[in-house]
Amino acid sequence: MDTQVAIKALELFSEKIIDNKEYLSELDTPIGDGDHGGNMVRGVKALQESLAEDEFDSAADVFKTAAKALMGKVGGASGPLYGSAFLQISKALADGDDLLEALEAGRDGITKRGKSSVGDKTMVDVWTPALELLADGDVSTDDLAQLAEDTKELKAKKGRASYLGDRSVGHIDPGAMSSVYFFQALVEAEA
Ligand code: ADP
Ligand code: MG
Ligand code: MG
Repeated sequence: MDTQVAIKALELFSEKIIDNKEYLSELDTPIGDGDHGGNMVRGVKALQESLAEDEFDSAADVFKTAAKALMGKVGGASGPLYGSAFLQISKALADGDDLLEALEAGRDGITKRGKSSVGDKTMVDVWTPALELLADGDVSTDDLAQLAEDTKELKAKKGRASYLGDRSVGHIDPGAMSSVYFFQALVEAEA
């Protein structure tokens, strides 16, 4: 992955998170504690500062910096999960993996740390199908947005939303939505 594309992708991701701060927290209100937008904005603001100030030799370097920013600043369940994802992406890219392989390693970082799998109504329900779409070829931002929509029908089995049991059904998972922004940013940066 090209260094400049990685920087652009993470800049776009940061902008989308900031633009949708209220929406992400609204999604986290009925099935969580209403802080997902605020949590993520703290992380991406730190990320934006690093992207503006630091020098990067590789895309692996860029994702390592992103991992630190999100791990250190997000707080909440989503911080260590995004941190693990970006750290594993960084390691895989440093090992010479292509972007798709690196994203798979990132997803595995989430499932390992979160002990979560597809169907638990978490960000994993975007990461895994998004990888399938990317592997198949052309992916539109609408296709990606649909993946968050698809989490509505799921019953939460991990995270705060799982305390609600059946009452979690009918709501989009907030971490799934922020993950859609990540994949949309990647697709837009590569276009
Ligand atoms: P908190 O729940 O601590 O307030 P956030 O609101 O920032 O943290 O993040 C909530 C999101 O984190 C959820 O919408 C879900 O996507 C994700 N999440 C929570 N627990 C897990 C887990 N075990 N595995 C994967 N994702 C998880
Ligand atoms: Mg929350
Ligand atoms: Mg919280």
